[in-house]
Amino acid sequence: NIKAIATPNRTKEILKKYGFAFKKSLGQNFLIDVNILKNILNVADITKETNAIEVGPGIGALTEQLAIYANKVVAFEIDQRLVPILEDTLSPYDNVNIVNQDILKADIQSLLQQNFYDEKEIKIVANLPYYITTPILMHLLMAKLPISSITVMIQKEVADRMAATENTKEYGSLSIAIQYYTEASVEMIVPKTVFMPQPRVDSAVLHLQMRKKPPVDVMDEDFFFLFVQACFQQRRKTLRNNLSRHFANLDKPMIEKTLQETGIDGTRRAESLTMEEFALLANTFYNQR
Ligand code: SAM
Repeated sequence: NIKAIATPNRTKEILKKYGFAFKKSLGQNFLIDVNILKNILNVADITKETNAIEVGPGIGALTEQLAIYANKVVAFEIDQRLVPILEDTLSPYDNVNIVNQDILKADIQSLLQQNFYDEKEIKIVANLPYYITTPILMHLLMAKLPISSITVMIQKEVADRMAATENTKEYGSLSIAIQYYTEASVEMIVPKTVFMPQPRVDSAVLHLQMRKKPPVDVMDEDFFFLFVQACFQQRRKTLRNNLSRHFANLDKPMIEKTLQETGIDGTRRAESLTMEEFALLANTFYNQR
């Protein structure tokens, strides 16, 4: 019976053995509570029928649990100093592959082909580095990977914004971007005390179930996301106001025509619009250009 990596004592022991100093700039906050890890695996529904991708294994706390419960694990770690440590801590497991690469630069698609040669579902599970949570998630979502879900520990505040629905103060262009690709839910609030060192903010486990297709049809995805951002530019201003500010003078008559054609009241605020309404507005505007 092997002692889990994710305990305060074992973690301290490993850090000491290798003289490892945390790099704040890489968002290194390691999990030291096995129960939290088991909860994350439950949310992700990890079984031997699942292959797992991990972002940022650290010293292997979550990787180890994935190795035990999943079929195979591929973990991307940017910090070279962690590679020999992981080789040591994960030596009992033969189903883990550590890739020493920046997840934002790696050719994930071909690495998946090289590592997963069965038909099992692929899921992403991670305790993400908080300084690049949003870039990493958007990158993974837009990479069109053959994955079925993403389950991540992130800042609670960001998780709330990603899963927010209309008419809440958390709702914004990030909610739309995430929910265009996934069904998002905040599954668990996690206290700072389960990390070493402790982060300054509270955390949450966010579950993103990949959609088979987007919930709305848009003419042009890039334009759609830019349009939504423009609508939210100044949250307290009206839709008409934000759109007029964003688009050049030339486009102004088109804004009025779009509002009229769609029947969406220009005095509303972006936070009251559903994704369907955003898609209708963006498509109508796009068609007039
Ligand atoms: N999974 C470990 C755990 O839960 O204890 C560590 C999580 S820690 C919050 C984030 C990890 O991501 C660190 O090990 C850090 O070095 C790594 N990391 C940071 N930026 C990265 C990037 N761009 N690509 C891959 N890994 C990265």
